[in-house]
Amino acid sequence: MSEIQLKNIVKKYGDGFPAVNDVSLDIRDGEFVILVGPSGCGKSTLLRMVVGLEDITSGDMMIGGKRVNDKAPRERNLAMVFQNYALYPHLTVFENIAFPLRLAKGQHSEQEITDKVNRAADMLELHEHLQRKPANLSGGQRQRVAMGRAIVRQADAFLFDEPLSNLDAKLRGQMRTEISRMQRRLGVTTIYVTHDQTEAMTLGDRVAVLKKGVLQQVASPRELYEQP
Ligand code: ADP
Ligand code: ADP
Repeated sequence: MSEIQLKNIVKKYGDGFPAVNDVSLDIRDGEFVILVGPSGCGKSTLLRMVVGLEDITSGDMMIGGKRVNDKAPRERNLAMVFQNYALYPHLTVFENIAFPLRLAKGQHSEQEITDKVNRAADMLELHEHLQRKPANLSGGQRQRVAMGRAIVRQADAFLFDEPLSNLDAKLRGQMRTEISRMQRRLGVTTIYVTHDQTEAMTLGDRVAVLKKGVLQQVASPRELYEQP
């Protein structure tokens, strides 16, 4: 089980106004939640606190029913996908996907690594591309490699920080479809930060609206965007 629960989460940088102010939100196992709001409202800060890259000033962060406030990022077993993919250009697709497994030194045999990478590649339709380098892939394929890296780790949840914001409109549309398909296939709990209303409407089970660090509204895309 990997529901994510935020309980009265506060983040203060220095003595300033809280960047995140008393945010409470229950994200169900397998749910896809979109986080929207103007620049500077605290979206990245919130995401970084979930992953463990930022300390929480007060409140409780629960993952799978366990309090993780004091757990290091690697103990939380979440996978973050950034807008620039962060692939290694000198490594093949296979080695890019295998990378997190090799990082956990001695924990996986060569056979296990091969099996896991192949399974992820099947799921993402990357099999024909395993021996290519990232430079020879389309933007959409690169995004899938980044997802593959998250999948081999069998992460309990995916966190996306504006993953499509650097792509042109056409590719963004394709990637929306891809991400939506992957989500249906994998059913992994996901928090997805975006500025893009179309992404929010097409991908999200629910949309959480943040303003000046305060959660204003949590609703289905239909309730939020199709109000009379
Ligand atoms: P975004 O585009 O996601 O809003 P920003 O460009 O605002 O990101 O911030 C980029 C980086 O700078 C982040 O790591 C953020 O934590 C940091 N940052 C933002 N505002 C401040 C600040 N007032 N003081 C120090 N670091 C900041
Ligand atoms: P968003 O991702 O919604 O653009 P951020 O989480 O980056 O918002 O920032 C929320 C607020 O916290 C902003 O006022 C920003 O300047 C501030 N902030 C972010 N990171 C830092 C930091 N490392 N140090 C100080 N202030 C920061």
